[in-house]
Amino acid sequence: MAWEAVIGLEIHVELETRSKMFCGCPNTYGEEPNTMVCPVCLGHPGTLPVPNREAVRAALKLGAALGSTVHTTSVFYRKNYFYPDLPKGYQITQYTASLLTGGHLQGVGIERVNLEEETAKSYHAEDGTVLLDFNRAGIPLLEIVTLPDIRSPRQARKFLEDLRLVILYLGISGCDMEKGQLRVDANISVRPEGSTAYGTKVEVKNMNSFKAVEDALSFEFRRQVSLLERGENVIQETRLWDEHRKETRPMRSKEEAHDYRYFPEPDLPPLVLDPAWVEEVRQNLPELPEARRTRYLSWGLSEKVVEALLWDPALGDYFEAVAEGLSRKDLAGNWVATQVLRVLNERGLAPEAFPLSPDALRELLLLIEDGILHHSSAQQVFEEMLTTGKPARQIVREKNLEVVRDTDLLARVVTEVLEEHAEIVEKYRSGKKGVLGVLIGAVMRKTGGKADPRAVREMLLSRLES
Ligand SMILES: [Zn+2]
Repeated sequence: MAWEAVIGLEIHVELETRSKMFCGCPNTYGEEPNTMVCPVCLGHPGTLPVPNREAVRAALKLGAALGSTVHTTSVFYRKNYFYPDLPKGYQITQYTASLLTGGHLQGVGIERVNLEEETAKSYHAEDGTVLLDFNRAGIPLLEIVTLPDIRSPRQARKFLEDLRLVILYLGISGCDMEKGQLRVDANISVRPEGSTAYGTKVEVKNMNSFKAVEDALSFEFRRQVSLLERGENVIQETRLWDEHRKETRPMRSKEEAHDYRYFPEPDLPPLVLDPAWVEEVRQNLPELPEARRTRYLSWGLSEKVVEALLWDPALGDYFEAVAEGLSRKDLAGNWVATQVLRVLNERGLAPEAFPLSPDALRELLLLIEDGILHHSSAQQVFEEMLTTGKPARQIVREKNLEVVRDTDLLARVVTEVLEEHAEIVEKYRSGKKGVLGVLIGAVMRKTGGKADPRAVREMLLSRLES
């Protein structure tokens, strides 16, 4: 029997606002622990929360990008539970009265998007001590819940990659999973292919990368299918992904049996938004990755290059600055997606810190476009530019790297090569056409790599065939 997966995702995204969700404390990362706190985010009695307008705006941007319905009246709820990382003993969230419902991305439906607050960060020391940093407590958080529309672990990963891009392009979060800015939980069940019924679902947690999500769901899919094929049942439970053993295992604590006793937050009135403001946010959305993808593809860039450029909006910006004024935008795309990206990775740099300005790289590419420089020499010039900071034209002049345009000179070199390799010429004429490459290589070596390989090839062919 063929089986299919039914997957839904729950994603938490920390918003990069200036201040926290309900107080004026700075929303920062990596500061000295417990220095970015105040009575509100520490949950002292008698304090009152005030919602952060920028966080609401960020949520509205995402809603507009996903095509969600904006509820101009939504309600904050208290989700009650006792845990050391929760100073108030409850978290303010939106429960069933979401700011956003509906919408979709890459064919996957969005159930709801809630605005809520972060908990403190806990550190578990080896001796069992739990250390708490309340700098994180109260940072604005979006909870994005998809419908169970995803049919494979691969599709789940693709969806997350696309969602990350949308959020990055909106500029509302850095989505850095290592910093915990983006976290994913998944629900997965399996059913016979073609069935519309739902199987028993399992929640999977503790996945720290998109690859881990794909791996964990693939493992879970195989585990559930093999249970059912043995005639056993899938137990509804929460399981944790073990990155080292590459398997999921049941969560031991009874945490999942929580009764959160939700009730409307008495300290906050319903969140009522001006429809004109909602519309203004929608009208002023930045360009989204899908629009950029379409534009890049229309410039003749390969899919692989396009995806590499999209992955980091700043890299795309750099590429566009280089491509401006070039007739071959694909040439710029290839250079940025391979050479520039390679240097960035080697040096651990962000695109903004790339040592060559877009103008400097464009000058090099114009030399290629105009046939003055070959790709092989261009590579050499590029490295030289990076080490010396000299402009491309100057390096080409100093190193005498211009393409040999003198056809008489080229003809002389070709004659020499044909004489020196009489044996190979014989082979070629007896039908072994593959040896042509050896002759081309010999000519290129004699010209110091400065001849145009196409011209060399043509000249050799006309001499060999005559
Ligand atoms: Zn505070």
